[in-house]
Amino acid sequence: MKLVLLGPPGAGKGTQAAELCKEYNLLHMSTGDLLREAVKNNTAQGIKAKSYMDKGDLVPDEIVAAMITDKLKAVDISAGFMLDGFPRTKRQAEILDAALIALNMPLDMVVYFATTEETILSRLTGRRICRSCGRIFHVTNIPSKKEGICDGCGGELYQRNDDKAETIKNRINVYNSQTKELIDYYKQKNLLRKVSGDMDVNELFIVLKDTFKKSGLL
Ligand code: AMP
Repeated sequence: MKLVLLGPPGAGKGTQAAELCKEYNLLHMSTGDLLREAVKNNTAQGIKAKSYMDKGDLVPDEIVAAMITDKLKAVDISAGFMLDGFPRTKRQAEILDAALIALNMPLDMVVYFATTEETILSRLTGRRICRSCGRIFHVTNIPSKKEGICDGCGGELYQRNDDKAETIKNRINVYNSQTKELIDYYKQKNLLRKVSGDMDVNELFIVLKDTFKKSGLL
């Protein structure tokens, strides 16, 4: 399966991608995770990216696209992959198309997580992430057994800087002005399948698996 998960921040793309990739042995590629790693390691790309990320703006296409195309070439994607948070602009989508054509691995499907603003706000403000393994929790929807501690590895849970109220507003505006047009881009290529990002995590997981089965991807 070669998939893109498309949708606003807080739609649940990262949570679903982690579970689906575990179940189907796919490679999970999240540009947000790659960028946060680069920032943490103070790489040249990370240093450039940080100021954009702190404001909730998009990191320039060249930086993000290079990260993904390098990764696609460096890792074994023969079992399939799931792109989460990339592409986010038409330019990135075109770069991705070209890279996948060169690898002879065209996309099978783009899953669009249609999500209301109410859900986005509640998901992002309540999201907590494990500092050690990156597992995603939510203070009410997916609480950890012990407050502030990851169930999986015992790491410390933290709130992303860009999950604070002021930055969230900008991220939603950026999504509406720069990323939303990808819905039409992929609709025209007949790759788009829409699911509801408002659904509960477990329900949506079942819907996604069903969508893949019905489309002959499983
Ligand atoms: P995410 O974890 O997907 O919410 O991404 C966090 C932040 O990383 C975004 O608000 C952007 O600043 C940056 N980012 C992630 N993916 C991209 C992308 N494909 N293009 C540009 N910026 C990105």
